[in-house]
Amino acid sequence: MLNWDTMFASRSSRMRASEIRELLKLLDRPDIISFAGGIPDPALFPDQEFKQAYADIFAAAVNSALQYSVSEGYKPLREWLVGQMAALGIPCELDNVFIVSGSQQGLDYLGKLFLSPDDTALVTWPTYLGALQAFNAYEPAYDQLTPNGNRTPDSYRSAASTAGGKVKFAYLSTDFSNPTGETVDLDGRRKVLALAEDLDIAVIEDAAYQSLRYDGDPIPPILALEIAEKGHINDTRTIYCGSFSKTLAPGLRVGFIVANAPVIRKLVLMKQAADLHSSTINQMAISDVAARGFDAQVAKIKAAYSQRRDCMLTALDKYMPEDTSWTKPEGGMFIWITLPEGMDGAKLLAKSLETAKVAFVPGKAFFADGSGANTIRLSFSCANEQMIEDGIGRLSALISAEIGS
Ligand code: PMP
Repeated sequence: MLNWDTMFASRSSRMRASEIRELLKLLDRPDIISFAGGIPDPALFPDQEFKQAYADIFAAAVNSALQYSVSEGYKPLREWLVGQMAALGIPCELDNVFIVSGSQQGLDYLGKLFLSPDDTALVTWPTYLGALQAFNAYEPAYDQLTPNGNRTPDSYRSAASTAGGKVKFAYLSTDFSNPTGETVDLDGRRKVLALAEDLDIAVIEDAAYQSLRYDGDPIPPILALEIAEKGHINDTRTIYCGSFSKTLAPGLRVGFIVANAPVIRKLVLMKQAADLHSSTINQMAISDVAARGFDAQVAKIKAAYSQRRDCMLTALDKYMPEDTSWTKPEGGMFIWITLPEGMDGAKLLAKSLETAKVAFVPGKAFFADGSGANTIRLSFSCANEQMIEDGIGRLSALISAEIGS
């Protein structure tokens, strides 16, 4: 057998199989109630709208739809996004908008653009696992971003220099984050921006779940706050990453980045090197479906998911033992549970699959420092009310038994 590890670049040593991807396989087992995946409910996809959109594209523009296209992205889609961004308090021009093959690709490009080996990326503890996977390839060190905490800029600078590089960006999910479901409040957003100013670093604002707010008042994106302060997007340091995966369809792989023109120009060059452009026909279909009925589609999803969230929160209140706590998300797809100190989420999962027949994601993988063993992530997006009631009941009984044993 060849020893590939000696042939691979050092950056590959931090690429490991994702626990979540492995777990997705469990979704197919009929005896398991899964709160693991965190993927959109396919029953809510706008499938008829896409069917019509692809038919229209094939009838009217098949040659351009099947052809190579520009790296920046399909212009009508970017124009539509300019309008959407304005409504979020982010006035911008066409050259501030860039289409990527899923916002995951955007995270990879941003890692590639900013991180030399041993540079520091600031991330929350926990953070989106896919972001850690994207950044890991560029061999960074991580330090903890605490939006509402009071670490001094100097403490970040000195930790980064000990790690052998500089702080390069702060990455955070502002609304209904994956994995916790929590939202960074206005004060926290301003503090992250102030910290980034002091450290002279970029802010990567992951807005993957931004449209999925079920209650409470919307909070302006960090990029909107920064534009309000500085007057123009081209003077800002915040890079906004958005996605159509949670609202329209993840399988089409269409996401977007909105940022100052110099960063967008660099990202376009990276795309030319990586895959030339995102799928032409899929961008056209997304553009068509979004232009015809984005708001109605989002309203449909929100109605379904908010009911499932309410149902899961009610079941947690009813069944979970005292020594556990959980987040109360105002949107998104996730609830984050903190188990009693000393209980291990991964061991609990192994038992749960055997006895309770409930799947979830152990929280540890979301922590850049390897902590968080006593946490788990539950997703309510694909479960119906009966599954939630039964699944939370069974999981709670298992946790109670563990506490008692
Ligand atoms: N950011 C967050 C926080 C996510 O949860 C996800 C998907 N799970 C992504 C980015 C990537 O989404 P996509 O590539 O489908 O746009």
